Amino acid sequence: MRTRIFLLGVVSVLVLSLPRTAQLEVPTHLKADDNFTLSKVTDGVYAAIAKSGGLASGNAGFVVGSEGVLLVDTFFTPTAVEDLLETIASETKQPIKYAINTHYHLDHTGGNQVLTARSVPIIGHENLIAWQTTKNRRFLPATEELQKRRSDAAKQLSEIPADQADKRTTLERQLKRFDAMLAIKLTNPTVTFGSGTLHLFLGSTEVILFTLPGHTGGDILAYVPSANVVFTGDMGGRKTLPNLVDATVNDWIPSLDQLLSKYPTAQFVPGHGAVATAAEIREFRDYLFDLRARVQQARADGLSLEQAKQQLKLPDKYKAFAFQNFATPNVEDMYKELVGTKAK
Ligand SMILES: [Zn+2]
Repeated sequence: MRTRIFLLGVVSVLVLSLPRTAQLEVPTHLKADDNFTLSKVTDGVYAAIAKSGGLASGNAGFVVGSEGVLLVDTFFTPTAVEDLLETIASETKQPIKYAINTHYHLDHTGGNQVLTARSVPIIGHENLIAWQTTKNRRFLPATEELQKRRSDAAKQLSEIPADQADKRTTLERQLKRFDAMLAIKLTNPTVTFGSGTLHLFLGSTEVILFTLPGHTGGDILAYVPSANVVFTGDMGGRKTLPNLVDATVNDWIPSLDQLLSKYPTAQFVPGHGAVATAAEIREFRDYLFDLRARVQQARADGLSLEQAKQQLKLPDKYKAFAFQNFATPNVEDMYKELVGTKAK
């Protein structure tokens, strides 16, 4: 203890005595804790809530049992999941026994390679074997393209004078993001199932995995009975608009009704947004229901897809949701689903 106090003293003297410029060399925005916020849901159950603009992009979480840890999702980049593994190691000495991928989207599977390198089994829906390394190309530009964007950003940065700190910060952030994306190697799960339930035991702590259709057709959720917590992946969101690129809303609404009737008092760790109550998951479900009703009405009124995209405005009650950029694509995806022209 005496050594630690002594060291702290030395560190603070060092920090205080650093010249101003040297302190600025470690900008706070580049610190690891900018990727996610750790939130303790209840004893042994944690949510890692992605921070906007960081390298996590989607939420993850973990369950600490009496014998081992379950990791739920691997974020968008290896860098971000490495940060999370460090955080887990500071909370518990238990090893990571299993990881799961709630669905294939890159913001939930981009760090898979870090887990396979540690020989941790990754459990996912059986459709991920076909989708993880193929469909994710839409979220991950080719290496040459990323390298080009990186060198463009590096060139711009070299031309910006030191006194324009904001511009430099933005570009430094972009460079860090490109580097993190260049490190991604699309990696499949190693254990899959397609229906029913899978029971994992972390010593005496049980976690039940199950599937529900709606968001991608390859989603799994995790329920921790002893804690009454559900990890929903992107099947659930808290005050966020969803990405409907792979969705079947006609399946999704009944799936959420089923989830809410089965777990009416649970806490929910969603794929995006903070830890949610059942009422907040219902609000997300109601967004999907309203969207479908508005698009059905537009079709009944004879609106074309283009007219619907222009005329349907997001209702005021959803204007504070994150990802407002999805509002118009949501109309388009919903319209195509109803007409039957949505690409599978
Ligand atoms: Zn996501």
